[in-house]
Formats: sequence, structure tokens, C-alpha cells
Amino acid sequence: MRFAIAGKGRSGKAAYDFLRQRGDEAEFLDDADGNLTADKILGFEAVVLSPGIPRAHPAIQAALSAGVPVYNEIDIAVPNWPECRFVGITGTNGKSTTTALLGHIVTVFEPNTFVGGNLGRPLCEAVRAGEHPKYAILELSSFQLETLSKLRLDVAVLLNLTPDHLDRYPNVEAYYATKKKIFDWVKANGVKIPPDPPFSKGGFIFPKNLLGEHNAQNTRAAILAAQALGIPDAVIQKGLDTFPGIAHRLEILGFKNGVTWINDSKATNVESALAALACFKSGVHLILGGHGKGASYEPLVQAAQKCVKKIYVIGEDTPNIVKAFGSEAIQAGTLDRAVKLAHQNAISGEIILLSPACASYDQFQNFEHRGEVFRRLFHDL
Ligand code: ADP
Repeated sequence: MRFAIAGKGRSGKAAYDFLRQRGDEAEFLDDADGNLTADKILGFEAVVLSPGIPRAHPAIQAALSAGVPVYNEIDIAVPNWPECRFVGITGTNGKSTTTALLGHIVTVFEPNTFVGGNLGRPLCEAVRAGEHPKYAILELSSFQLETLSKLRLDVAVLLNLTPDHLDRYPNVEAYYATKKKIFDWVKANGVKIPPDPPFSKGGFIFPKNLLGEHNAQNTRAAILAAQALGIPDAVIQKGLDTFPGIAHRLEILGFKNGVTWINDSKATNVESALAALACFKSGVHLILGGHGKGASYEPLVQAAQKCVKKIYVIGEDTPNIVKAFGSEAIQAGTLDRAVKLAHQNAISGEIILLSPACASYDQFQNFEHRGEVFRRLFHDL
């Protein structure tokens, strides 16, 4: 077969390598190269569509109208794992967290488990490496759900639905309809887990490193999905107890002089920083700032009144943040200086929280880099 690989991101590359290894022909088409066009794509027998490219793209629409099958990377991989049991996880928020937690629980039960999908490792990479997992725990974005055709799920989790990605959908209903599509891919005897399903905590103790009510929702969903796979409660608990946590998302770095240090560098907007503050009652030393996104800081000012003791402002948007919070906000400038000041001020029982509410690229390469610098500064103290 002659495959057009639309988009040369990580999943496109994985599909390309796998198809070529299998003996098929494959060629990349990408807007960046100017060749993702209707007349080009019609020269192929099938398309593998990257989740980053909308189906509304003129070239993809041309392929669909001409009856050229459009797959995604997951569909290419799935037929190679006929014995595997699949779990799909989608929702507006919490996909990565729930996928990582459930992936960890299932791996404790059965080490031969694949965890990936939308984020992390493409399936084709594992297929090419000759892996034959017994379980596959997949994070599925709404864009992937639009294109799936071969995947059949043993368990499907829809975490929550709030308006998001409206830039890529005509209206909220269209977005919801795509997310709910995950339930169309469930096998006849499979299990569907809807948002906020009935849950009895039983004897479960939730992971200490997943803070906040939103993570309790993610944990409940992961437990229900694990039970649906027939994993015994004792093994699920072992998974909850040994979950290593997720880097840069309310990640507990450790303790110094009774002060808890938390890295939430992933919080690149005001909503995420609000979710972080909702986890704490008092004594928070909040490190905030970076490249602002133009949203009002007012909701954060309100939330901070409840639990924040001191604010240390870094980065480019300092003037706006100081305007919102007033003169009590300490203008630290750099993360390095903010860490030193917070370390001097915080007393036992308090919390030092990096939850910037801003993008990082005024002072760092990306949010991971910002989080790693914070981690290093903490360990160097
Ligand atoms: P996703 O993969 O869906 O983007 P993540 O697990 O990476 O989600 O979490 C990203 C952010 O979304 C978190 O930092 C938190 O602010 C928020 N979040 C996580 N889980 C939930 C949830 N169940 N409900 C609402 N917000 C959530």
C-alpha cells in the first residue's frame, strides 16, 4: 500500500517507520513542506492523519471525498495486537494524570502493559519494537476520537466535559459529541465509565502525591477502570501506594525544615493556578509570573486571599501581576531569587508553590525546563 503520512510529528514518524519496516510505501505530507495538498494526497491509497491536523484541512477533506481511507496512528497499530485488552481515556481535563495512574496500576498487575497514545509513546513505536502487550492504556484526544476506526475498547473512560478547543469545533455540542464518541468504540461486553460515576471508596487510600479534588476525580476513574479489568482491590491499592506522581503537575518535590515544596510548572494559565490554590487552606508562598497570556489575574487575587501568605513575582508580566496583587507582592525577578526569598520566609508547616499562571518562554525553554530549574534550586538548598 502507498500511505500518505499527514504530519511529521512523533506519531507520524512512528507510523512511517512501522509501515516502511512492514514493506509498505510511505511518504510524509506536511504543511511545513508545502505538500499537504489535495492533488498530492489523491496519489495515495490511504492516509495516516496526525492528531495535530484537523479533518477540516482541505487536503484531508479531498481525500475523504475521494473515498481514500483516513486512519490515525492507533488504527495502524491496533490490528497487530489482537490479544491485547484496551482502555481508552478521554475528557477535557485530567487525561494524562488518569492515564499515568491507571497505567501504573495495571503495570503493577501485569508488567507487560503499554501506556501511551495522545501523549507519550506512539503505539506504532511499540509495534515496531516487537512488543505484544497484554494491556494497553491509551490517552485519547478528541481529535483522535474523530478518526479512529479499528480500535475496540474493553473499558472507556470519559472523565469530564467542559468547553475547550472551541477554536476547532463549530460549537460546544459538536465538541461534546466527539468526546462522547469514545463510547461507540466499546466492545459489546465492555465497560463505559461516564463523568462522575457512582463510586464507593471502600477501603481505598488515595495517592498522597495527587493533590486536590480534581485529582480525586481522576483517581476514582482509574480505580473503576482497574476494577472493570478485573484487577483485585489489593493490587489496585498497591498501585495507588506506589504511584510515583507526575512531574510538573502539583508535584511534591520534598520537604525542608518542615516546609513542603511543590512544583506546578505545568500551570501556564490562571485556571490551572486556581486549581492548585484550591488544594491548600493556608500558609502558601506562591511563586507566580512569566509570559502573561492577557487573562485577568483577579480570580487569582480572590483565591489568594484565602490561603496565600506571600507572593513572589517573576518574569515579563511582573507589572501586570503587581498591579493586580498590590504592593505586597514581592518583585523577585528571577526564579532563583524567588526561591531564596521564599526559603527565608517560609516556616514549618507552610508550603512553597511554583504555580506560575503564565507561560515560561520569557525565561525558560518550556514549562518542563522551568520545573527542572525549580527542582534543582530546591535540591541545591
Ligand atoms: P490533560 O492531559 O487532560 O490536559 P492533565 O492530567 O495533564 O490533563 O492535567 C492538566 C491540568 O488540568 C492540571 O494541572 C489541573 O489543573 C487540571 N485537571 C486535572 N484533572 C482535572 C479534573 N479531573 N477536572 C478538572 N481539572 C483537572
